[in-house]
Amino acid sequence: MTTHTSLYESEFHDRPTYGLATPDANFDIAIVGGGLTGMSAALELAEAGFDVAVLEAGLIGSGGSGRNGGHVCQGWPTDFDKISGQLSPEAADIAWESGMAAVDLLRSRVKNHKIDCDLTFGYLHAALHKRQMDELDAMQDEWELRGYDQFTRLGTQQELDEHIGSTAYVGALYDTGCGQIQPLKYLHGLATAASCAGAHIFENSAIKRLERGGSQKILHLASGGQVTARIVMLCGNAYLADIGLPQMHTRLAQVTSSILATKPLSQNMIRQILPTGAAVADCNAALNYYRIDASGRMVFGGRASYSNIELGAVEPDLRRRMSAVFPLLADAETEQVWSGRIGITVSRIPHFGRTDDDIYFVQGFSGHGVALTGQAGSILAKAVIGDATQFDVMSSLSHMPFPGGPFRTPALALGMAWFKLRDRLKI
Ligand SMILES: Cc1cc2nc3c(=O)[nH]c(=O)nc-3n(C[C@H](O)[C@H](O)[C@H](O)COP(=O)(O)OP(=O)(O)OC[C@H]3O[C@@H](n4cnc5c(N)ncnc54)[C@H](O)[C@@H]3O)c2cc1C
Repeated sequence: MTTHTSLYESEFHDRPTYGLATPDANFDIAIVGGGLTGMSAALELAEAGFDVAVLEAGLIGSGGSGRNGGHVCQGWPTDFDKISGQLSPEAADIAWESGMAAVDLLRSRVKNHKIDCDLTFGYLHAALHKRQMDELDAMQDEWELRGYDQFTRLGTQQELDEHIGSTAYVGALYDTGCGQIQPLKYLHGLATAASCAGAHIFENSAIKRLERGGSQKILHLASGGQVTARIVMLCGNAYLADIGLPQMHTRLAQVTSSILATKPLSQNMIRQILPTGAAVADCNAALNYYRIDASGRMVFGGRASYSNIELGAVEPDLRRRMSAVFPLLADAETEQVWSGRIGITVSRIPHFGRTDDDIYFVQGFSGHGVALTGQAGSILAKAVIGDATQFDVMSSLSHMPFPGGPFRTPALALGMAWFKLRDRLKI
């Protein structure tokens, strides 16, 4: 069944709810967007004693944070040399440490706030052909030089067989530093923690216009009325429509990704396809990413649409992709199919920024935000609290606008078609 509702929402029956924003309220900091970035920033700011509000247009988790694949990934979503090449060695070290702190932050928040969200570790970065395995080898070399010690190289079919019952791959890196989570439960755990720390959280409170000019910004609510704040954080990522700043619009493109969840599989089937319970992502530009969730469902994502046009049925395409990896799942019953918007930047590096009048933003996690958004929200919060070290490094990175102006979606689709062809030809 294809639906806009994610599996996470369907299975989370007692999710907390929050009220509407009260018109005329004033806060130190207003955060637009109740996803993982906004909630992470709110938690840290509230813990530091700031009067902070989160204004969410829909329900908490309406955006990518409540509908993603649940893969918890280390580091930045791009080859690190794209970041380090723009920085001094000292600043590059700060950027590296900052990216590698994301999973630790997630892990510590889950533990400290006792968030029940099915967090487990074990991950396969899987290569479909030799070029991809060479890229994984280069990544292993680079990361290990910087001290990362969680990789095991799986270079033979026998080594792969221990983790995955598929002949689709020529090799993989098994990574004990990455894993999986039920993202909506994690997000609500952060929201509960932020609320307990004193943050004000509002649902169904879309901001339709941001009025600047004085020391107080005015945030106009779509439902009428307004709230004011000295500092504003724009954390709407691919869902932030009208109120984004011009420098944000030009540097972010939206991609639609879709996910299919099967009905729970038998333990015997799970042992045959993913015996160690590792989550998996291949190395294609339009990648497949999948995992077995806590109830034994295969949660299989892929099918990036850069043209943002839903071509034909999503479900048959995802079923075809899944069966190509695991022929044993050809007859597995579908429980739910849903889609969501991913925000990407040209370089795939998240875009951090701040205006002179204290509007902070971060966007463009490029499909790699489950852990990184927590860190990004924390980086924004720390900059306000008084330590802008990480923020200054990350916001110093340059971001090209997407070529093509208003025609950038067709241009992106063409560019993507080339990468897909390259992956198909295995060159
Ligand atoms: C299908 C899919 C699969 C993915 N899989 C993975 C994965 O497995 N691993 C991974 O690391 N990453 C994955 N991602 C990416 C990850 O989900 C995102 O990077 C992350 O959720 C971004 O979080 P965010 O808080 O910045 O934005 P979002 O979670 O998108 O939140 C933004 C929020 O802002 C709100 N908003 C926007 N405009 C306004 C406004 N004007 N007023 C009030 N509120 C507003 C929206 O309603 C939304 O709730 C996936 C994304 C998708 C869509």
